[in-house]
Amino acid sequence: MTARRAPRAATLPQRLAAALAPWFHAHHRDLPWRRTRDPYAIWVSEVMLQQTRVETVLRYFDGFLTRFPSVAALAGAPLDDVLGAWSGLGYYRRARLLHQGAAAVARDHDGRMPGEAEALRTIPGIGRYTAGAIASIAFDRPEPLVDGNVARVLSRIAAIEDVAQQPATAAGHWALCAAILREGSPRILAQALMELGATVCTPRAPRCDQCPLARDCLARARGLQAEIPAVRRRAAQPRERYWAVAIVRDDAVLLQRRAPQGLLAGLWCLPLVAIGDDDEPERPTASHLRGLPLPVRELVRVPEPVVHVFTHRIWELHVVRAHVRGRVPALDDEGVAWLARGTTVQRFGRGGIPTVSRKLLARAWAT
Ligand code: SF4
Repeated sequence: MTARRAPRAATLPQRLAAALAPWFHAHHRDLPWRRTRDPYAIWVSEVMLQQTRVETVLRYFDGFLTRFPSVAALAGAPLDDVLGAWSGLGYYRRARLLHQGAAAVARDHDGRMPGEAEALRTIPGIGRYTAGAIASIAFDRPEPLVDGNVARVLSRIAAIEDVAQQPATAAGHWALCAAILREGSPRILAQALMELGATVCTPRAPRCDQCPLARDCLARARGLQAEIPAVRRRAAQPRERYWAVAIVRDDAVLLQRRAPQGLLAGLWCLPLVAIGDDDEPERPTASHLRGLPLPVRELVRVPEPVVHVFTHRIWELHVVRAHVRGRVPALDDEGVAWLARGTTVQRFGRGGIPTVSRKLLARAWAT
């Protein structure tokens, strides 16, 4: 490492800041949200990056900003358009809150993002971390931000073995992060901490030999990198089984809008029918199909279920193709729509089609 070092008498935050800034300039990844100081764009990037890999966000970020280039554009767009642009990114609650947040900025702040973390936190969907990210990165204010990556770095630096003090919510992390940001450009130092956690101080096998903070890292000095932070065991996810009924008419399949609350709320999916513990997944019976939007006939089961893993549950979806029984009635229900084969989400234009629906459609059309 060629990073400049703070004098020996410097405090820990001063030494960390002095090592982080030059390292970030030399080693950071060139990402589109790093090329802007537009607080709206940084807000969008932070929301997209929650629980989502950088590679995935790269496929959506520019397109979303082209479609909704400003807070005003997002606030004025119908929610279905926003969910449509978000289709495939997952965790759709984020898109709803972003849309609500944009409306609040348009209404309460004249369409301009405030620069203070406290004001940012009054906006729907902006919590402590996102407020810190926007205030520090866009406005260069020493507002701390601690997510899982930053918490891991700081836990290791101080060799924190107390599990209760390791998470991103720990007060000690926020205090140390704020102290570091005050020792230089908050904009650079905030991104440097995040980048170090994402690329060097990774959960498994951190690359300590390439770390600018190695000299000040107690976990490294004590050989505790693998133990800090402690690995949390996840509770087993319950597995839910459904028939996903692909009701086909000519070259189109029926989609149903999901309920406004709950998982995939308001998004479009094949009609799902729960498979009970005593049911055979081979084929639903007439009584199972009573709740479908249209009466169906000629059921054909598609081999191999689609398995989709959510954060807290797993769906096992047995696809069944069916045709409408009798004359196809006109659909005047807002909650159902025909999707012609090959139609893109953009051309569909009535809202979001999540990844699991796309998997089901691919399976239904493949037979
Ligand atoms: S020296 Fe290793 S464990 Fe310590 S902060 Fe750097 S990468 Fe993480």
